[in-house]
Amino acid sequence: MAGRNRVSLYRPEQSEAVDRHREIAVAAGIKLAIEEGRLRLFAQRIVACADPTQQRCEILVRMVDRDGTIIPPSVFIPAAERYDLIGAIDRWVVQEALTMIGRAGGLDRHTPIHLNLSAASIGDASFVAHVLEVLEDTGVAPEILVFEITETALVSNMAVAATTVGRLREMGCQIALDDFGAGLSSFNYLRQFPVDIVKIDGSFVHNMTRNAVDRYIVKSIHQIAQELGAQTVAEFVEDQATFELISSMGITFAQGYLIHRPEPFDEIMADHEIRAEA
Ligand code: C2E
Ligand code: CA
Ligand code: CA
Ligand code: CA
Repeated sequence: MAGRNRVSLYRPEQSEAVDRHREIAVAAGIKLAIEEGRLRLFAQRIVACADPTQQRCEILVRMVDRDGTIIPPSVFIPAAERYDLIGAIDRWVVQEALTMIGRAGGLDRHTPIHLNLSAASIGDASFVAHVLEVLEDTGVAPEILVFEITETALVSNMAVAATTVGRLREMGCQIALDDFGAGLSSFNYLRQFPVDIVKIDGSFVHNMTRNAVDRYIVKSIHQIAQELGAQTVAEFVEDQATFELISSMGITFAQGYLIHRPEPFDEIMADHEIRAEA
């Protein structure tokens, strides 16, 4: 009897309804946060393995609750995607990041900046026009921008995606394939358009010193990227042994908690220790 009760308590359709309600509430919260200016830019530094003083950063968006709690993207990005709010978030991120960089002086203006591109933005022809306009308004060089795209972001409309990628590259921006190897057809995307940087998925990197299969996968991805003339980033570098291993393999960049955690972007901008790549 207890078993039957348990089954009725955890009916899947019931929890789906709960999830849906929760997500609608999150989506309403995102709209409010955009209106009330409660999105924040965080960024995580990425270093060159051969010279860790050479830095770049990946912009990571955060939402701040009315009570000041910082909400990570894993909580609100899925809802933003489902309720058509992610395009607005991506545009805000471009506007805010380039405005902050545009105000900076000296070397900061030349530090490469990685931005995450959602499926909605990559399928939206006017996104590129928005980027161009913001570049002009802020005087930031297009060459410092690297747009990170995931396989899931590409899959929805390959033709439009290839056009968007082509335009961004013509402008002088670079393209990185994010979470590479995590999906079923990562390799297929390498045949579709030129890629400047391959980001090796953290799930292969974080255990690679303890798992030989992971090590072979990381090495193979790096070798293919090299053949294609692309640089590589190892994500989720969490200990010194992993950093040494990826460095010995010739991987270009390291990103992960060992190197730096995500920090408020304004604090990174204020750090004059940061040095642009030669
Ligand atoms: P992502 O692009 O793969 O970003 C890397 C995520 O891994 C970040 O989580 C980062 O904090 C986390 N991470 C970094 N180093 C380590 C490590 O050593 N170990 C572990 N376990 N995790 C690490 P975050 O900031 O929560 O972002 C999650 C995802 O949200 C991102 O994954 C990206 O897909 C999405 N996202 C973030 N900001 C934006 C944005 O502005 N626009 C769009 N469209 N998506 C965004
Ligand atoms: Ca990313
Ligand atoms: Ca990633
Ligand atoms: Ca990811």
